[in-house]
Amino acid sequence: MKLNGPKAEIWVPDGASEADALKRVTHLGIAAHQDDIEIMSMEGILKGFGSSKEWFMAVIVTNGAGSPRDGLYGNYTDEEMQVVRRMEQKKAAFVGEYSAVAFLNHSSSRIKNAADAAPRQDIKAILEATKPRVVYTHNLADKHDTHISVVLHTIAAIRELPAAQRPEKVYGCEIWRDLDWLVDADKQIFALDCHENIQVSLVGVFDSQIAGGKRYDLATMARRRAHATYYQSHSIDASSLLNFGMDLTPLVQDDKLDPREFVLRLIQRFSDDVSARVKKFS
Ligand SMILES: [Zn+2]
Repeated sequence: MKLNGPKAEIWVPDGASEADALKRVTHLGIAAHQDDIEIMSMEGILKGFGSSKEWFMAVIVTNGAGSPRDGLYGNYTDEEMQVVRRMEQKKAAFVGEYSAVAFLNHSSSRIKNAADAAPRQDIKAILEATKPRVVYTHNLADKHDTHISVVLHTIAAIRELPAAQRPEKVYGCEIWRDLDWLVDADKQIFALDCHENIQVSLVGVFDSQIAGGKRYDLATMARRRAHATYYQSHSIDASSLLNFGMDLTPLVQDDKLDPREFVLRLIQRFSDDVSARVKKFS
């Protein structure tokens, strides 16, 4: 497949041909950075792990330059960090038994330019080759600018596909801001009760990010555990680990639906819920 980014790559952990690896994909994660996928799309990864019927693929949109660094990586240049981060992502893809991982390798500034069609074209080409049933990407209330740009490019790319070729489900997943605030009726629940050891490993292999002073490995598992317990106040924990998602499917079923208005409506429902509860007991 011809991708637009410099040094773009599609890597297949089990050595299948690129065409076969893309064709077997059922669940596709599209993220801005190396390690985002493992933090936010664990449901899709677990669907593919150990399965011969369902396969997960990761798409990393940026080149990973400019991340904070410390310790072993303190003196690494941006160029060297990109090499390290790509290798870490390949380690995760191998451990998680992904069908493939695509490195689109665009700069963050390019992603954030909505008028630049190249990232959208690349995402569209991968969607056409994989035809996934489920897509996981960032959610529209994330507070990282590059994450928002990636979800908007993803929605735009899906909207360029004929209706019959679009994924059945598109989920916005949590990283910078979790999604506990969504009212329960709007929450997509991802139960992550199996392979806890693999989940820990998949975030842990991104040593350059963790050694940079951020314990993503501990924080990601802690968030899942906290969600499992704090999800329902009046019943015992049905799961030991949960992630929450924002169901973005309406945005790929109705091309006229504005993403900004869509997320503001979800925030309004949260606002109404808080308001009604306080009013009830005032
Ligand atoms: Zn990120």
